[in-house]
Amino acid sequence: MTTPGPTPSRTLGLLGGMSWESTAVYYRLLNQGVARRLGGLHSAKLLLHSVDFAPVAALQAAGDWDGAALMLAAAAAGLQRAGAQALVLATNTMHKVADRIEAASGLPLLHIADATGAALQAAGVQHAALLGTRFTMEDRSIVRTRLEHRFGLHVSVPGDEDRALMHRVIYEELCRGIVDAASRSAVRAIIERQRARGAQAVVLGCTEIGLLIGADDSPLPVFDTTELHADAAVCWLLGEPGAAP
Ligand code: GLU
Repeated sequence: MTTPGPTPSRTLGLLGGMSWESTAVYYRLLNQGVARRLGGLHSAKLLLHSVDFAPVAALQAAGDWDGAALMLAAAAAGLQRAGAQALVLATNTMHKVADRIEAASGLPLLHIADATGAALQAAGVQHAALLGTRFTMEDRSIVRTRLEHRFGLHVSVPGDEDRALMHRVIYEELCRGIVDAASRSAVRAIIERQRARGAQAVVLGCTEIGLLIGADDSPLPVFDTTELHADAAVCWLLGEPGAAP
């Protein structure tokens, strides 16, 4: 006879759909993480608000971050009313408006850059290359400054052409479920150029890149924000020491 183990007592609000391809990975990792720690039939206590990504992407492309913030803030407030006790925003790019989402919901947000920065720091990385959408690579306020200031990292990004390619692969392929071998080779070449410029690791700073590139494909050690963010959320769900609020 098995005795019932500890039960996860916390409920996490997952704000996803950006894109759903990566939210599906979060959902799996969160449940697997809790099951691995607690065993048996345990799984993660989650509330998921999965948005329609098309209007969000249109607001991003138009530079209407206020409009996107309002949409996500309303979703986050709904998660709070439904019983969520903390938030995971399952995209790097929309961390552009993380403060507004946190304020509107009154819930602590487990920031994707904190999970990533802690792992880089623990691995002794000093110089990391950041791959992501054009927004994440070009706007330091999204994750780059936080990685640099909180974790003492030097963060570099690829050049113009490489950023354009990365952005196109994310929106035209990965967010639509297309995983293409030629794009994998192209991204591997981008990582190689970053290695040649002194990067010691690559941050997959877009939650879909892990669908295309894994440790075996990369000339540099890979720090996948989706995996690291989900790991941090599992620690929070289980109230483990060191977990964010
Ligand atoms: N999921 C991606 C990210 O982590 C891109 C989609 C979005 O713009 O939210 O940045």
